[in-house]
Amino acid sequence: MQKIDKISAMQEAAAALRRAGRRIALLPTLGALHAGHASLIRLAAEKGHAVVVSTFVNPLQFGPSEDLVKYPRTATSDALLADKECAEVLFAPALEEMFPRGFSTSVQEDMVSKPLCGVARPVLFRGVLTCWLKLFHIIQPEVLVMGEKDAQQVAVVRKAVADLSLPVSILTGPTVRDADGLALSARNNYLTPTQREEALAVFGALLKAKEMVDSGVKSADRLVAEVTHIIAAKRRLRMIYVSVVDRTTMEQLREIVPGQCLLAMSYWVDEVRLTDNMPL
Ligand code: AMP
Repeated sequence: MQKIDKISAMQEAAAALRRAGRRIALLPTLGALHAGHASLIRLAAEKGHAVVVSTFVNPLQFGPSEDLVKYPRTATSDALLADKECAEVLFAPALEEMFPRGFSTSVQEDMVSKPLCGVARPVLFRGVLTCWLKLFHIIQPEVLVMGEKDAQQVAVVRKAVADLSLPVSILTGPTVRDADGLALSARNNYLTPTQREEALAVFGALLKAKEMVDSGVKSADRLVAEVTHIIAAKRRLRMIYVSVVDRTTMEQLREIVPGQCLLAMSYWVDEVRLTDNMPL
């Protein structure tokens, strides 16, 4: 695996892969790679793609009171994991390389990015799209790999790819969870054992919602009420939002549409913000 931190070297490496007839699949990440990222690298590598993993703590997607400074940076173990999963390139640019002083361009999607996480984190998706569009131009991947764990991110990026006619196809992989059900996230590292224990109620609530749908419940309100009730019983959990939404538009739904909707939620465990979802 090649480790690259300069844009020009990344452009050359991507061109060389294309000359060798390889299809490039890009997995953009914030680093702190875990088994969820590993599953996405494997998913793309098993299809024969040359996987480029970018690890970059993108400041544009963090709000002023968010955890940019304390976000885990684990360059050595990231390289080991990406190499083990057979990534071809790890692209880990420094901040000045990606966004030098004076960088002043941004990319904004104005519909799918507005509800849910877009309400309390207005810069999140603009930051993601701006960074990813720059990565697309540097690497020119044919495939973009994303996790369904961040369902709204998938929907926003799909919309932007369609709106801007970007020549990239999208490959998504399911959410990887710890054995106890907590969705893997770099931010789980912030949790104390007690906080982690309480956060497990979220998976229980998502499973309960799925069970209700499987047993014939159609009303989104009933699911939302049940999930809210389960979370309210936990001292350290605070709901930010819970909603049944269309998986493409992220619009709120009143009735379950099988195969087309998901229960999306975001919550605080004390001061740690986590998101999760369950396809219905
Ligand atoms: P991040 O580093 O959090 O920006 O995530 C990079 C990519 O990995 C995104 O497409 C995420 O949706 C995906 N991802 C993060 N956590 C998981 C997980 N637990 N399971 C599957 N994919 C994940």
